[in-house]
Amino acid sequence: MKKSLLVLLLAVLLPSLVLGWLALRSAQEQQIVLERRTAELYQKETDTVATAARSLISAERRAFAETLRQMLSSEKPQQLAGHFAVSLRTAWPQPAVGFALTTEGIICSPNLHDAGSNTQVRQFLAENGSWVSGKAPATAYPVPMDELNRPELASRKTYGNAMKRGGDYGNQMLQGNQSQSAQPSKSYSDSYASKESSGDKPEIVTRNVAPQQATLSNDSQLTWATADFREFTAEGNEGVVNRFVNDKLNMIFWIRPAEARNLVFGCLLRAEDLAAQWPDLLPANGEGGGPESDFILALLNDKAQPSAVSPAGSTVPDWKKPFVATEIGEALPHWEAALYLRHPERLVASAQKVRRNLYLLISCALGAIAIGGWVVMAETRRQLTLAQKKTDFVSNVSHELKTPLTSIRMFAELMHSGRATAERQPQYLRIIMVEAERLTRLINNVLDFAGLERRQRQFEKRPFELFEMLTQIWSSHEVHLRESGFTTSWESAAPPYPVIGDEDALAQVLVNLLANAEKYGGEQKEITLRSYSEGAWVCLSVLDRGPGVPAGEEAKIFEPFYRAHDSLSSGIPGTGLGLSLARRIVQEHGGEILYQARPGGGSNFTVRLPLQTPSSSSS
Ligand code: ADP
Repeated sequence: MKKSLLVLLLAVLLPSLVLGWLALRSAQEQQIVLERRTAELYQKETDTVATAARSLISAERRAFAETLRQMLSSEKPQQLAGHFAVSLRTAWPQPAVGFALTTEGIICSPNLHDAGSNTQVRQFLAENGSWVSGKAPATAYPVPMDELNRPELASRKTYGNAMKRGGDYGNQMLQGNQSQSAQPSKSYSDSYASKESSGDKPEIVTRNVAPQQATLSNDSQLTWATADFREFTAEGNEGVVNRFVNDKLNMIFWIRPAEARNLVFGCLLRAEDLAAQWPDLLPANGEGGGPESDFILALLNDKAQPSAVSPAGSTVPDWKKPFVATEIGEALPHWEAALYLRHPERLVASAQKVRRNLYLLISCALGAIAIGGWVVMAETRRQLTLAQKKTDFVSNVSHELKTPLTSIRMFAELMHSGRATAERQPQYLRIIMVEAERLTRLINNVLDFAGLERRQRQFEKRPFELFEMLTQIWSSHEVHLRESGFTTSWESAAPPYPVIGDEDALAQVLVNLLANAEKYGGEQKEITLRSYSEGAWVCLSVLDRGPGVPAGEEAKIFEPFYRAHDSLSSGIPGTGLGLSLARRIVQEHGGEILYQARPGGGSNFTVRLPLQTPSSSSS
């Protein structure tokens, strides 16, 4: 039993519990997986917007380069440099401020004289003059060269690379130049200062949005350096350098023409000058950005405020908490393409549904395993008990057979050898008869039980007078009981007790009860038979004054092979079949058999059988 329990535990329950636990864990991860997958899908949307934004800056830069090329085709660079600011204003429609300077940092154009009342030019000179001429270094974001012509390259650069690039750039750009910028950006000045104070190691700056689903680190991947304009333009022929001045993003496009390598032509364009073009970067209605779409896309400026929103006019509770976002990069530093879910609860709900179903399935499977395991265990226990009972039964039957056979043989031999006196002979013969009867009863019990078990026994039912059967059995047993030292009495209500049934089978019931009363009658040898009618029932009770059935075993004694008084401990032989057989026979006759503890000590076994009524006899 213990072994099968261990096997069940190790081979079934334990693996199922482990599987259940694994399944529960995977159910919990479902939500994360679903969210991640959705995030990856939506990240593509924001990546596209970010690429579009970089492309726009790139296109403006190319437009400036084209304008300059045309201007240089009709005029010598040195001449153009002298009035470049004025000429660019008419040649290029963008409200950009053009400038030209020598590689030594001497500004050729504009100067305060031609600026006149032009506030833009005056502002340029005041804010950027000393930086472009190399007199004051400032923090700026150079757009990487490879990104200038292929804006899609910037997306998803890894943080590690950005760090390295930032460091290298700093080393290269900042040799011996540690003074603070003349006009640092207010918002980012702290981080720039700390970057400088720590030498060439770039500080980590967190992004100004916190996407709920960050596929990369939430730290900004921007590269910046603190240097003057000349250092930013020292290498290459063209580029873009962005910087914040008075909290406003200034974009500076620059070109060193091949025909005059000692001159740098540039222009300053403010991010706000491109305001009209921002909405074009987002999908229009019907291209995934319509009012029915599941999400809202926004281009956020460096203050995390929307510069453009699709669908137009949409709002969200907190612009700083998008579902996913992509940093635009150095082309628009600290700007973000952000996506907000319209119904974030739907994502959670669908994940919860998947999880709920999984929980349900797992619980059902575990429940089935537990119930199955319990049933198997109960059945195993039942089979083991039955096997134990059958083993006991075999040894009991052998013992039961051996005792009467020994007596019969002994007394028969005595008589056969002529050693038995004539007076003793009738007594010996009676002993042989009683023992033979005992054998018959035992064999009958075993055969009848086997027949009933296989449903082979057929009862031959017919009407008969129960009182007559009682008289017959009682008279044959009373003599034997008296001889064995029992006090016997039969208390009977007046007959008749007509019943319908198998007379032999019912006689067997009474014989079994009397035999039990004799076996378990104890010291106070007293047996009473009562017969009486009770309404439509006739009742037979066999009473003794023995120890009775131990408490709690009253129902079990009617089970096959069950013995409350074990042969070994009590010394009383038996097979455990008598009462179970009696109950089957009585039930087959529509009656019942009951045990009651007898007041004053002893047992009271009562058989109740239906009396034959006129209607039952006619049928
Ligand atoms: P057995 O062959 O063991 O007598 P039975 O089916 O006749 O088998 O009885 C089942 C058990 O019921 C007995 O083992 C005994 O413990 C208990 N029993 C039966 N009759 C009596 C009785 N008159 N007094 C006390 N216990 C009894």
